[in-house]
Amino acid sequence: MTDLFTTIVSSPVAKRVGVPQPTRLRRYEPGLPLCEGPVLVAGGGRFAEGIASWLARAGVATVSTAADAEGKIGAVVLDLSAAADPGELDQLRLLGAPAVKALKRNGRVVVIGTDPATLTDVAEVTTQRALEGAVRSLGKELRAGATANLVLAQGDAPDGVRSAVEFFLSGRSAYVDGQVVRVDESTSGEVDALRPLEGKVAVVTGAARGIGAEIATVLARDGATVVAVDVPAAGDALARVANEVKGTALQLDVTSDDAGRRIVEHATARHGGLDIVVHNAGITRDKLFVNMDDARWRSVMDVNLRSVLRMNDAILGEGGLADGGRIVCVASIAGIAGNRGQTNYGASKAGVIGLVTALSRQVADRGITVNAVAPGFIETEMTARIPFATREIGRRMNSLQQGGQPKDVAETIAWFVQPGAAAVTGQVVRVCGQSLLGA
Ligand code: NAD
Repeated sequence: MTDLFTTIVSSPVAKRVGVPQPTRLRRYEPGLPLCEGPVLVAGGGRFAEGIASWLARAGVATVSTAADAEGKIGAVVLDLSAAADPGELDQLRLLGAPAVKALKRNGRVVVIGTDPATLTDVAEVTTQRALEGAVRSLGKELRAGATANLVLAQGDAPDGVRSAVEFFLSGRSAYVDGQVVRVDESTSGEVDALRPLEGKVAVVTGAARGIGAEIATVLARDGATVVAVDVPAAGDALARVANEVKGTALQLDVTSDDAGRRIVEHATARHGGLDIVVHNAGITRDKLFVNMDDARWRSVMDVNLRSVLRMNDAILGEGGLADGGRIVCVASIAGIAGNRGQTNYGASKAGVIGLVTALSRQVADRGITVNAVAPGFIETEMTARIPFATREIGRRMNSLQQGGQPKDVAETIAWFVQPGAAAVTGQVVRVCGQSLLGA
């Protein structure tokens, strides 16, 4: 979606007079190479060797020093998971800086560490925690569509690390920058790279338009059978989306008492089961706190938060979501950083993050993962209605100097729900181009 301002700043005249031009981001398309090579893999931690051989099997050339590359580098994977003393962080600079200097457009820096929460030695915890500051700062320095992200391992099992590194190297993470993802020791084995969701049944709420419609499209592209859910008033648009993705439509208001039961019944009766639920339906009803009325507060809390709690009770009950299933919630950076005029929305989206943390622990023994995306400024009908000046600030104030696309949110969700992401749970990934708002 482009507006007049975007058209003007990307015009040939604007380019000639030096108006900064956001880089066209490399986005995932099935069949494209995982990332441009060569990839520098270094650092001597416990995952580096496995990652290098997995990349080689995927057809991506690897090198172990920037000098070996003899030219530009597509990505840098630095495994510092074994660093136990702050002095060892020199490796980050010594190995990483020459490679970052040689990084191609839309390049990637992925650092692997050990989750400090799993360590007790003070020097080790200090060292591993330091990685977060370095990676987030590097994300703010990189230009030309390049990103920097951190994967924190909670053990020795490689599957989760590999899944997260693959996500961050690929075009699926085009608008994900400066993020930290923790992976546990769950194993997942080999996954079909082109159709990772083949045979899965996925429900997406709020699917008639915007981000929800794109989530339905991307999950279907990756092989899932999609049940598209939205309010009856959006019935025509909902039917169009359901037809396009060759799925089915279910008209319901997520705030109704029987919404969870009806979702389970529809998915099992029409498609034989339920594997994935994406709670995307959401509304805003902005007002300054002192003027916030009952209706605005309640409707936002009901649609964005209370309905999710209620539906999950039915979805996780007998005959509902399959073991090994996936739940993803759509939060917002307003739930992390707060936003003027959005005490109701900020509360609901922060609540969603709390829900994800608590529920992920509760259902771990069934192999079910629960995660959230927190979108920043995404180009949708909702953001197109924001007044010009506020919109431009929201759009440009991030490391990638542009707004994200609904597809960027959908691709992160599509990664969370892959069988290969079994080790990723209780996580909140911001899809915001490393917005200057919040952490
Ligand atoms: P949108 O308004 O374009 O679409 C939301 C969809 O949810 C609509 O189709 C609507 O009919 C549906 N919906 C609303 N109430 C419902 C209910 N009670 N039952 C069933 N369906 C209902 O919004 P969007 O921009 O696509 O946002 C999707 C999600 O992403 C929301 O949770 C939103 O809070 C979140 N989000 C969006 C942005 C952004 O920049 N657009 C940023 C952060 C978070």
